[in-house]
Amino acid sequence: MRYNLSKHFLTLLQFYQFLILLGLRVLPILPKGRLVPKEFFDILDKMKLLVDDRDRRGSDCTIGVGFLTSKQTIPDMVAFTQFCKVRKVDYVEFRPFHGDYTIPDHIEECLKMATDKFKVYYSKFKYDSEYKKKYCKCHAQTFSGVINVHKVYVCCHFRGVDRYELGDLRENTLEEIWNSDRRKNIIDKIDFKDCIALCKLDLVNRTLDNLKSKPEHVNFI
Ligand code: SF4
Repeated sequence: MRYNLSKHFLTLLQFYQFLILLGLRVLPILPKGRLVPKEFFDILDKMKLLVDDRDRRGSDCTIGVGFLTSKQTIPDMVAFTQFCKVRKVDYVEFRPFHGDYTIPDHIEECLKMATDKFKVYYSKFKYDSEYKKKYCKCHAQTFSGVINVHKVYVCCHFRGVDRYELGDLRENTLEEIWNSDRRKNIIDKIDFKDCIALCKLDLVNRTLDNLKSKPEHVNFI
């Protein structure tokens, strides 16, 4: 099937790096008989379509792929990195599945495949199972609402969670949802017990919290 990506869509992609979350095993090294969901191959096809379309248009859109590591997926890291490199995506990023902090022992091999045109990122700090948030409020969500089909959520971790649903684009515009009392109330009541310790916006939150905090001494920056 041919996918026609509109110019508008590609322009949007230039603002937001396109991230495809893949936490599934790579086909060539799957044990025989293992079932792989059809969606996995759809995503791989679309990844190629995106790259082809980017190249055809001469766009400088960045296309990256996230790979979630776990005991189950770690054996496929090297093959997956090779796969992405051949497919000409711009980068592959390795980070842990939530709750599985197994250190990916193949990471060095993957990092060695990086070139000027193909980056390999390793979010090493996310493998700290002891980490606890020290800030008290999520300020970072302001920079990262998430639209899931037609519903808007606080952040990507709360997609599909009713109590963190900000609104529905079939009923209100994004501007109305964003400026609504409902959003304000939900944000005020974010319970960190519902949050992932090293969530996607954790670093942003840490930085914002540092900026808000008073320095130990006025002469120290
Ligand atoms: S998971 Fe992270 S980004 Fe989402 S609300 Fe919690 S602290 Fe904020």
